[in-house]
Amino acid sequence: MAQNLITEEMVIEEVKKAVSETLSVETDQMTPESSLINDLGAESLDFLDINYRLEQTFGIRMARHFILEHIEEMFGEGSAIDDEGGLTDKAVELLNIRYEGEGPRVEPGMDMDEVPTLITIGSLAAGIMDILDTLPEKCPECGETAWQLDGTRIKCGSCGAYAEFMSGDDLIQEWLKKVQEERHIFE
Ligand SMILES: [Zn+2]
Repeated sequence: MAQNLITEEMVIEEVKKAVSETLSVETDQMTPESSLINDLGAESLDFLDINYRLEQTFGIRMARHFILEHIEEMFGEGSAIDDEGGLTDKAVELLNIRYEGEGPRVEPGMDMDEVPTLITIGSLAAGIMDILDTLPEKCPECGETAWQLDGTRIKCGSCGAYAEFMSGDDLIQEWLKKVQEERHIFE
């Protein structure tokens, strides 16, 4: 269910805060378009730290695996990355559907190691919004619809239970299945 307790602006602020705490970069030097790797100097291990902070902030589980790994797992080895470590045409198509309107377009032949540079403040925030939108309509603990905000966490105003959301990895898999059903990208 689309939730309206936490706005995208709030999420962007929290992403900036988490990135700032991890990378020691001031938040006023970040925009939604800032690439964590290219513009803010993040290295791969930093993503674990940033994700952990965001998980604590919102009570969510961020994706542990990047979309390319999910494509390979779902559609077979070589479906996303070719023998030379370049993206397949189908992976390019999927990434461009995924990141439509956010950040640079993915070009065919892009090296897989370049893909993490596409992660921006805005794309992280969009991923978190998608997770938050899996909020169930009713509280699974008491069955009431009484969600309210407690700082940056959504909790039940009736029984006090914190909301639980679909994990980032489950959400990517569900998205891939839906796109495949609609567009038949893989035979
Ligand atoms: Zn409840």
